[in-house]
Amino acid sequence: MRVHNSLIELVGDTPLLRMNKVTNGLAPTMLAKVEYFNPGGSVKDRIALKMVLDAEDKGLLKPGGTIVEPTSGNTGVGLAIVAAERGYRCVFVCPDKVGNDKLAVLRAYGAEVVVCPTTVAPDHPDSYYSVSDRLASTIPGAWKPNQYTNQNNPQSHYESTGPEIWEQTEGRITHFVAGIGTGGTISGTGRYLKEVSGGKVKIIGADPEGSVYSGGSGRPYLVEGVGEDIWPETYDTSICDEIIAVSDKDSFLMTRRLAKDESLLVGGSCGMAVVAALKVAETASPDDVIVVLLPDGGRGYLTKIFNDEWMADYGFLSTETEEVTAGQVL
Ligand code: PMP
Repeated sequence: MRVHNSLIELVGDTPLLRMNKVTNGLAPTMLAKVEYFNPGGSVKDRIALKMVLDAEDKGLLKPGGTIVEPTSGNTGVGLAIVAAERGYRCVFVCPDKVGNDKLAVLRAYGAEVVVCPTTVAPDHPDSYYSVSDRLASTIPGAWKPNQYTNQNNPQSHYESTGPEIWEQTEGRITHFVAGIGTGGTISGTGRYLKEVSGGKVKIIGADPEGSVYSGGSGRPYLVEGVGEDIWPETYDTSICDEIIAVSDKDSFLMTRRLAKDESLLVGGSCGMAVVAALKVAETASPDDVIVVLLPDGGRGYLTKIFNDEWMADYGFLSTETEEVTAGQVL
């Protein structure tokens, strides 16, 4: 029988899909690495699996142990799936700005969710950083993966995402474009692709306008999962050849186009990465092969990006036919 014995076996090996319409006739080949094909629906399944397996190897996580992590999104789902499979309890600490749908998904996977106020300072005892630290030190057998410092985050991409892309393109990739959140995806995948190609593959980061990676102050933006107001240890500053800042508006309009034109219902950070990839395509040569990584699916964003009223409230939908302008190159 052609069966899989565990959902975990289905992490990775995601497809590479040619994008035909959003490219508007640009000559270089544009390929999307569609990460919503992972069993938990996002790229974060890769890091969840690697972080848990390594913690088991090092004896940090023992049978019956508890995984404690401040996360409200994709990393939580990935960890919950791996935890259910391997018999661990999960406690996730989320800020109260996180929508109920996201909390419901984590609970549906069997995780316990502790909600903390967003308005307090990070060092306040009720902040979600403080609460997760306290839970990790008081729950017996607790282990905190910490995706912002855990080197298994970039390492999982070095071992899976990078080699997959190299093999799928038969070594023809010339540019890799991805958003930067923890920096794990771009640092691990980028390091592999640079090494295997002898430095030929160009690595381009996409970043929300306002985030530190593209020189911003950390001011707020609406695209979820990418950009930072701090520099995490999981981001290797030596990997990116270029960082392109993209506005919320351009990110969201492209996200909607991806659904309509390419039938790719994906999240806002995917639209952001595609805007940056198209900017790269404008000056690339016709033989170039640009791979852009799309981290998650779009169902978690139906009440925001795919909701006309929400978009209009933020002034993102001024005209129906508005073209997405290219991101600003820094
Ligand atoms: N997009 C989304 C939706 C994410 O959840 C993340 C992870 N924070 C990213 C992009 C960025 O990935 P990374 O953390 O590997 O930089």
